[in-house]
Amino acid sequence: MDLLDSALVLFSGGQDSTVCLAWALERFARVETIGFAYGQRHAVELEVRPRIRSALVARSQEWRARLGDDHIVRIDALAEISDTALTREAEIEINKSGLPTTFVPGRNLVFFAFAGAVAYRRNIHHLVGGMCETDFSGYPDCRDDTVKAMQLALTLGTDRRFVIHTPLMWIDKAATFALAHQIGGTALIDILLAETHTCYLGDRGHRHDWGFGCGECPACRLRASGYAKWKAAS
Ligand code: ZN
Repeated sequence: MDLLDSALVLFSGGQDSTVCLAWALERFARVETIGFAYGQRHAVELEVRPRIRSALVARSQEWRARLGDDHIVRIDALAEISDTALTREAEIEINKSGLPTTFVPGRNLVFFAFAGAVAYRRNIHHLVGGMCETDFSGYPDCRDDTVKAMQLALTLGTDRRFVIHTPLMWIDKAATFALAHQIGGTALIDILLAETHTCYLGDRGHRHDWGFGCGECPACRLRASGYAKWKAAS
């Protein structure tokens, strides 16, 4: 990898993918973003994306020069074949197999396949994603082995070398805050807290010290505890 390369970041508007976007802006000469519309119960994630991109380029001239196009891909079929709390009005809970009902089977495999196709067209070899084994080991499509298999599948299936970067794979939420601070200081932390969205219920009405959210769903609890742990250690 050298700074002349380009990268495509899977950017949802959540905290993790925003840290990954900042990570990529530090490392690549040109960085494009891709987001997926797939019938989410709440479109909040898609709404915050342009605001986050604007906030990031306002922070740094270098980042402004490097940040390129944003691609939104509609995958309505994903909602049609899913029956989860993310796409229907169902309770978020842990099902019998130990997975949250928010789990869309194989969602990241679909995302990577589309991201790979877009990257191929854009002559981009590096994909960056916020997948993490540490916090949600219940998501099999976020595991390191899955991502490595997808990298191989894309490389073989397109006859072009792809590298998938997952800078958050082995760190917890507190360490993700620490990484963000290391990359972009207090300004990046402020963007994470004010603009990014992770709450499963789409709640933007309640502001906490760790950001917006209902405060009760698994994503909010994870973010709140990670922020508290990072604050206590910093
Ligand atoms: Zn929540």
